[in-house]
Amino acid sequence: MYDKNRPSRPRKAVSSSPDRPERSAKPASQPAAPARTGREQRFSCPVAAHCGGCQLSRMSYAEQLRHKQQVVQELLGGLCPVEEIIGMADPYHYRGKVHAVLSTDKRGIPYSGVYAMGTHRVVPVKNCLIEDKRADRIIQTIVSMLPRYKLRIYNEYTHRGFLRHILVRTANVTGQVMVVLVATGREFPGGKAFVAELVKTHPEITTVVLNVNTRETSMVLGKTETALYGPGYMEDELCGKRFRISPQSFYQVNLRQTEVLYRTAIEYAGLTGGETLLDAYCGTGTIGLCASDHVRKLIGVELNADAVRDAKENARLNGVSNARFFCDDAGRFMVRMAQEGQPLDVLIMDPPRAGSDEKFLSSVLTLRPPKVVYVSCNPETLARDAEYLVQGGYRAVKAVPVDMFPCTEHVETVMLFTRPDA
Ligand code: SAH
Repeated sequence: MYDKNRPSRPRKAVSSSPDRPERSAKPASQPAAPARTGREQRFSCPVAAHCGGCQLSRMSYAEQLRHKQQVVQELLGGLCPVEEIIGMADPYHYRGKVHAVLSTDKRGIPYSGVYAMGTHRVVPVKNCLIEDKRADRIIQTIVSMLPRYKLRIYNEYTHRGFLRHILVRTANVTGQVMVVLVATGREFPGGKAFVAELVKTHPEITTVVLNVNTRETSMVLGKTETALYGPGYMEDELCGKRFRISPQSFYQVNLRQTEVLYRTAIEYAGLTGGETLLDAYCGTGTIGLCASDHVRKLIGVELNADAVRDAKENARLNGVSNARFFCDDAGRFMVRMAQEGQPLDVLIMDPPRAGSDEKFLSSVLTLRPPKVVYVSCNPETLARDAEYLVQGGYRAVKAVPVDMFPCTEHVETVMLFTRPDA
């Protein structure tokens, strides 16, 4: 029986969201430069203890990699060989998605930073070891402009004020930058002049979006959006394909390492050109579209409607004509595929931290695709789901950890399953 709450082995890695490990803080006055060079250097972030985003910041990068290897080895080593972790050549400033928390000091002057661990007190941060430097600079510019434009920061206790959050996404290959201003209303007094000054100061910004979030929740983004400058989305390239990313769509945060991850998954899939491939939990279709030249037919399924819209647009943008994307719960979709007995050669699945569910996995056992490549951001739920697949007749062939989140305890893993009877 599939028990989604059962951790398969003792817990090692304790995690928040890999999509959003909290920002690692560093006072403005102290440079973020490492003390030594190479993988033995220490990260030495003085406010790591307050921030809590970089749980492994006391370790050198080499130690971090060894630690992550061991975590994955303990969880999956009983099922298959675990290959050597793929680390980053440069493990700094890799986060292409930066979310600034705002506050005001005693004099009412705004600043940005991180929540002190376990509180809603904001520790000032001007630059961070793991965030994209362009994003941090843009956030500082925006914060410094607020008093002149008399833009008030939202107060979560009184529910007054205008600007709630700043979100900056930076593309890796195209260099495009998307700024999302999350505010409490559509009315943006002085908005035109504000945006004009911002893009003049930072010509690298290719779009500015106003996102309206009136809800009293911890969700960062609201549903309503207006493009104040540029097209309202950004474009980037991965594995030679171009991708459109909307403010609400999932896009990997470590883009430099994403190509490595995708290439590993595609290599594990061993595609020969004749296959039907299902990219489940496909987001904006990135993995499947990167593999689309090597398959006969690509099917993508994803729950987030914005991401599916982006996936369809991405297929068009790249002239990919063998792909179809569906907005649905992956489990429900898989059940239907199994009921209809649709042919499936390779399944690549990349579920969120909670892992997959029984609906999905039991249908995998019914459909019996000869190959399953599981891309996971949580080795604990991967181990649980892997055991289910193995009990259902799959062979766990190999796994490899990929370090997508240096300095944090998160680790991505790619794992291959085959059917001995295929
Ligand atoms: N493969 C993509 C996205 C991975 S993140 C990439 O590499 O960018 C996991 C994705 O699963 C998110 O886009 C999320 O919206 C989606 N998701 C979460 N629950 C789902 C469900 N029940 N059915 C389908 N998709 C789901």
